[in-house]
Amino acid sequence: MKASDTLTSWIPIPEESDFSLYNIPFGVFKTREGSSRCCTAIGPYVVDLAVLAEHGYFKNIVTSARVFHNEYLNDFIGLGKEQTNKVRERLIGLFSANTTELQNHTAIHDSVFHQQEHVSMLLPVRVGDYTDFYSSKEHATNVGAMFRDPANALLPNWKHLPVAYHGRASSIVVSGTPLIRPKGQFKGKDDAVPSFGPTCSLDYELELGFVIGKSTRLGEALSTDQAEEYIFGFLLFNDWSARDIQSWEYVPLGPFLAKNFMSSVSPWIVTTEALAPYKVNGPVQDVAVLPYLAYQGEGNYDINLEIELQPEQGKAQCISRSNFRYMYWNVRQQLAHHTVNGCNINVGDIMASGTISGPSRDSAGCLLEQTRNGKEPITLTDGSTRAFLQDGDTVIMKGYAVRNTARVGFGSVSGKIRPAL
Ligand code: CA
Repeated sequence: MKASDTLTSWIPIPEESDFSLYNIPFGVFKTREGSSRCCTAIGPYVVDLAVLAEHGYFKNIVTSARVFHNEYLNDFIGLGKEQTNKVRERLIGLFSANTTELQNHTAIHDSVFHQQEHVSMLLPVRVGDYTDFYSSKEHATNVGAMFRDPANALLPNWKHLPVAYHGRASSIVVSGTPLIRPKGQFKGKDDAVPSFGPTCSLDYELELGFVIGKSTRLGEALSTDQAEEYIFGFLLFNDWSARDIQSWEYVPLGPFLAKNFMSSVSPWIVTTEALAPYKVNGPVQDVAVLPYLAYQGEGNYDINLEIELQPEQGKAQCISRSNFRYMYWNVRQQLAHHTVNGCNINVGDIMASGTISGPSRDSAGCLLEQTRNGKEPITLTDGSTRAFLQDGDTVIMKGYAVRNTARVGFGSVSGKIRPAL
């Protein structure tokens, strides 16, 4: 389907909705009295896929409704793209203005369609493994300049491989989960010994993650051409970070307690297929890459990203705007690199992009960059300033792609900061 085709639905969808007929993302939800079930979103509604399956709407695609009666999407994703794409296309058909099959089946509408605000959205996948890349040149340059040396901000390996580290899957949570300010060790520039306590420089990182849709065997390497077949879809990802803990602990093995206390994801996974019309060329890679990292075609996605900060008792305000298209290394290169040594991947694994920063200060993907490590605080509309996050602050990240009238979005990922225990 091309973004230029005009799709209309019999379901009223506000123009600014992330959940147009072009999207049809997947997630998992729960009502107050019911069990958890797989779902999609259309306009303001969450759509119960288990109920649709029980009424035979996927009868030639999915053999049992059981796959939708689930705490996670892993079993559904594991059916493979051939089937999951057919489910998505079937849903587009059922919601389209020119079909009456579901439209006229009003007896089940109350059990199929739920207002989004009336249900709880759950963590969409059981995450086996999580890897965090470091693929924005602007971010790596800014951080390298602050943590090390402005003259040599990018280390010699950076333009030859997509740098990454293995993160912690156990602390990945769904949007809305509060963040308890973490404690740890940190050290000022002139301190002889480290201090211990709640972090003084709590930060967010604006990222997109991709969810693995097909497993590989140990020893199997994926090419950049094969990679997309293994990516089920994308979600918003906030990699909360404690900068004081990070700068003291990261040498020589990389991030540990500064990152693994929590990461938040959006409840909706937007499929690779829904995002295909928004592909664009990435930045020019001005250092030749090894053949296994070379790729054909458009490698990046034009996805607008926004960060809002809402102080306790205050209104949310946008503090930064970035775009996924800025990434130097694309997802196909990331996946080819991740598997080139034979490391196996599994359905439900999440690979996050790394902080997505644009070229200017107001497109920074984290406060570390936007406030120059706290030295130049930002001022909010209520007059208060932020070098880093305060207790009571809520961070909200949004993402959407739009072309002509076709809008495909992620909703949001948010989290409110609670004081340290
Ligand atoms: Ca990160």
